Amino acid sequence: MLLIIIAVNLSGCVKIETKRYEASFLDLFDTITTIVGYAEDKEEFTDHAQMIHDKLMEYHELYDIYNSYDGINNIKTINDNAGVSPVKVDQRIIDLLKFSREAYQLTDGKVNEAFGAVLSVWHQYRTEGLDNPDKAEVPPMEILKEKEKHTDMNNVIINENESTVFLADPDMRLDVGAIAKGYAAERVCEYAMEHGFANGMLSVGGNVRTIGRKLDGGKEVSWSVGIQNPDLESAQTNLYILGLSDYSLVTSGVYERYYTVNGKQYHHIIDPDTLMPAEYFLSVSIVCRDSGMADALSTAVFNMPFEEGLKLIESLENTEALWVFKDETMKSSSGFENYIKK
Ligand code: ADP
Ligand code: MG
Repeated sequence: MLLIIIAVNLSGCVKIETKRYEASFLDLFDTITTIVGYAEDKEEFTDHAQMIHDKLMEYHELYDIYNSYDGINNIKTINDNAGVSPVKVDQRIIDLLKFSREAYQLTDGKVNEAFGAVLSVWHQYRTEGLDNPDKAEVPPMEILKEKEKHTDMNNVIINENESTVFLADPDMRLDVGAIAKGYAAERVCEYAMEHGFANGMLSVGGNVRTIGRKLDGGKEVSWSVGIQNPDLESAQTNLYILGLSDYSLVTSGVYERYYTVNGKQYHHIIDPDTLMPAEYFLSVSIVCRDSGMADALSTAVFNMPFEEGLKLIESLENTEALWVFKDETMKSSSGFENYIKK
């Protein structure tokens, strides 16, 4: 029966009525996840949304650096065993760390998964500063410099034969926050596509991955994805609406997570060269196919002067970027305009 339906549908003789559905979840990656898709009825869509949610949850638990889960060795387990012993892990952790290493090399170290020792200091000061704004402080540079000694990627020892990861430096910590959401979204979209999810959009906290096209009004058109205006108070919510099909859009921005010390905002993307929040832009958005790469690049390019980032983006195929400078002016890579929805 199924085969017949597919054949009929492909020949275009009979159109199966599909409706657009949307589902949101709040229990993944500390953010809001939204899934948009099409199905003949609510049940069919709910099955797909549940499948995507459950797969994302597996990645969320594996890539968590703050919480432990029964029966799972995750990134936190690796951190807890720094300098102690190798930890046997799921292949998906090894794959993420290998991907992170490629991103490190591609971006000249501007995104570094072994940067956790420095990032955890910022995390602690930010958390305390948000809880107690009157006493908010910037981490002292001596502390940051001391922690920086423990960020050498080469001390992340991956043994693929044994499926283990070992941090050879006891004071080193992994932080996969710059890459994990996009990487997980990419893997889960691949999985969903293999399981019959052919037209949809997945947003994990604004890390957007599109699948196929949208089917509005019987027509197939690209998905419309907005680029958030970093000025959250502006009446114009989006700087641009892009038309994407099988592409990803990921933005890193100062407005996402920050705290305030003496009237100055300190956000969560830390330049490895200065050990301080990068000061070049309000946001950087990346358009490319792979949402893991888009996530890695958005953080890394945010940490680079414009010319350096532009050179990197122009060297990559099917990859574009939009930079929003601190005075709200914008620049984009050479092919960016092709994605703007007319
Ligand atoms: P978000 O996760 O808020 O969408 P990003 O993808 O830019 O934004 O990731 C920011 C997170 O990446 C930070 O919260 C921190 O955990 C981590 N991070 C910050 N700076 C760096 C860096 N230079 N290298 C690697 N990870 C970083
Ligand atoms: Mg990122």
